Amino acid sequence: SLLRCSSSRCARRGPCGGPIPGGVALRIGIFGAAEDVQCKAVAREAAALGADTLCIEPEAFERGLPLSLLDGQGFYLGEPVDDIRGFYLRAIPAPYAPTVERDGELVLYEDWFTTFMHTRERASYFVAWLLQLAHQGVTLVNGPHAASVMQYKPFQLHVLRSLGARVPRTLISNDPAAIRAFHARVKDVIYKPIMGGAITRVLDSEALERLEDVTASPVIFQERAPGEDLRIMLVGEEIVSCVAIETPAQHLDFRADPIYSGGGASYREVRLPESIQRFCREAARACGLTFAGIDIKHQGDAWVFLELNSSPIYLDVELKLGHPISRAIAQRVVEGARG
Ligand code: ADP
Ligand code: MG
Ligand code: MG
Repeated sequence: SLLRCSSSRCARRGPCGGPIPGGVALRIGIFGAAEDVQCKAVAREAAALGADTLCIEPEAFERGLPLSLLDGQGFYLGEPVDDIRGFYLRAIPAPYAPTVERDGELVLYEDWFTTFMHTRERASYFVAWLLQLAHQGVTLVNGPHAASVMQYKPFQLHVLRSLGARVPRTLISNDPAAIRAFHARVKDVIYKPIMGGAITRVLDSEALERLEDVTASPVIFQERAPGEDLRIMLVGEEIVSCVAIETPAQHLDFRADPIYSGGGASYREVRLPESIQRFCREAARACGLTFAGIDIKHQGDAWVFLELNSSPIYLDVELKLGHPISRAIAQRVVEGARG
């Protein structure tokens, strides 16, 4: 209703080619950097739907930009932002201190304690703000418990398993004896981190020698699922894109291919069986995601779910195959903002 043109002769709910006389411009928000290519793409689609975009920089606090919550009312750069009823969540600050490079090595800041405390406070502000927005019925794509830094693969596997979806046999553990027993039973085993940030590797004899290293923190060990890598983009109930990622050489983790990291990946459209589509929708819902990038290994009749990403990278697929992912996100957020 904010977009209804105030002119008595114009009943359009949409942009009338400029500022609406007497009307208030409809805005959406993006938690993400204005320079981020996906933020730009969503903002462009929102503009086509008649909405302006305000980007809330994840680094706002680091840069000293003013943010406030005054008796629960949100302010950004000194301006009230409570009119915004729809947000795309691309990124918020991570709750852990970033590392810096010194003499070719990754180290924490010298003032690590101060930095660590600042980092926690900043993240806490954003998460609490997102929780408040969700509580106020604001549309969030995605909501606070899907804040992009949080990846809970073990929970996602539980959800998928409980729906009856196929997942690899999995051990998440820091116990060398349990890992050896799992390997003896399953044989073809890979390992990867819970939070991400490392390429998936094979648990070979050399890795089996180093199992004492894992006692300090748990690792995911998984039966290796054969076949091609699929990436599904789900927005709301709609599967906007489903592709097989094609790399020329065989890799356990397709990201290890220089072609992929160099931006030269190619994709092939794949049609998902109805039952697998349903698992995608139900798993995303149970994980609190209205937007998800879902990873599946596929061979023949086997569709093996690996994970759901809450802030997936997707622009390469959108540009190469023309799948309207940004538009689907913008539509959902703008609809929410319209109320
Ligand atoms: P993330 O992408 O968050 O690092 P994934 O679980 O998607 O974690 O693993 C990354 C990639 O590693 C997958 O896309 C897939 O290519 C490969 N991979 C991960 N787990 C398995 C598995 N159990 N079997 C075969 N390949 C796997
Ligand atoms: Mg993945
Ligand atoms: Mg991931």
